[in-house]
Amino acid sequence: MKARTAPLREEFMQAIGEIIDSGAFSGGPVVESFEDDFAAYCGTRHAIGVGSGTEALWLTLLAMGIGPGDEVITVPLTFAATVEAICLAGAKPVFVDVDEWTYTINPADLERVRTPNTKAILPVHLFGQPADMDPILEFARKYRLRVIEDAAQAQGAEYKGRRAGSIGDVGCFSFYPGKNLGAFGEAGAVVTGNDKLANQIRMLANHGQSRKNVHFLVGWNSRMDGIQAAVLRIKLRHLDRENRLRRDHAMRYNRALADLSGLVLPAVVNDRSHVFHLYALRARDRRRLIAALEARQIGCGLHYPVPVHLQPAYRHLGYRRGDFPVAEQSADELISLPMFPELTPDQIAFVAAAVAEAVATSLAAGIA
Ligand SMILES: *Cc1c(COP(=O)(O)O)cnc(C)c1O
Repeated sequence: MKARTAPLREEFMQAIGEIIDSGAFSGGPVVESFEDDFAAYCGTRHAIGVGSGTEALWLTLLAMGIGPGDEVITVPLTFAATVEAICLAGAKPVFVDVDEWTYTINPADLERVRTPNTKAILPVHLFGQPADMDPILEFARKYRLRVIEDAAQAQGAEYKGRRAGSIGDVGCFSFYPGKNLGAFGEAGAVVTGNDKLANQIRMLANHGQSRKNVHFLVGWNSRMDGIQAAVLRIKLRHLDRENRLRRDHAMRYNRALADLSGLVLPAVVNDRSHVFHLYALRARDRRRLIAALEARQIGCGLHYPVPVHLQPAYRHLGYRRGDFPVAEQSADELISLPMFPELTPDQIAFVAAAVAEAVATSLAAGIA
């Protein structure tokens, strides 16, 4: 993190100093400027800064009037927040399996799970690659459903030339520090072209106030901090360059690992741009790979080792192992290698060599 912030440190200190001097710690003009910048970046009419990505999703569902008795279709291979938001809105998450190459929602399964109670589809642009939005939008039009994009991992990604988050009715973003566009704390945003929803979400995020002391809705406090907005405004100017670096690193990994057996490397589908929030590959013998990386002190991650439908908190939904075979197998096999803009070719080669060695020992043991 230190290496990441060093080149812009002076600029950050200056911007944070201005917030301290102005006293605009919660909301205020810098938050408004960031909202304008981010809306322009995404190509939407509105951006609303909120407290986190989780709240972006939850407030969106509330603004749409989605609650008890309603169903929202999403995927089990995601961060728990996607599903939490649906449950905390009082609605029921209904899962469909993911596609085996992109790990995003498989649109072919939508028809099978729809009921008269289905109100929305919530695709997740997992690891930084947009879900296949056209069939989702078509399905939504057919049954008059809302489409909410969980774009928490996909700031700047594109689907057929459109920015992630700007394709459905609403796009929800997280600026958690580890995301491609990360704040110095918790923050999130909602983007939309729908004036009414934008207005509703803005009210909900500020105690339901339509103006001061008029509480029009039962809302919440989910205002963005001035300091986070100041940091994000600066970082947004570097996002495209950093995403390009991530993409270059991913291609370098792909080339270095291409000939190894027992691995499934990340695939980028035509017409989509992947911003590689994570470089996640599948390994048949993941245990050995983790051990080899750890032995060299190479950080790796599991996203996500237990799919949401098998987590204790979601047992009441009644799903069982076997219900979503692609998500379950992916959860067993996915492993994320180091991925950040400052990664060097030497570091990538070092990681790739460790992966190659693990694959060789797996082969010798007859596993890969
Ligand atoms: C990070 C993340 C969230 C939640 O965002 P927070 O800002 O941490 O609340 C939601 N969905 C996905 C897919 C995420 O990766």
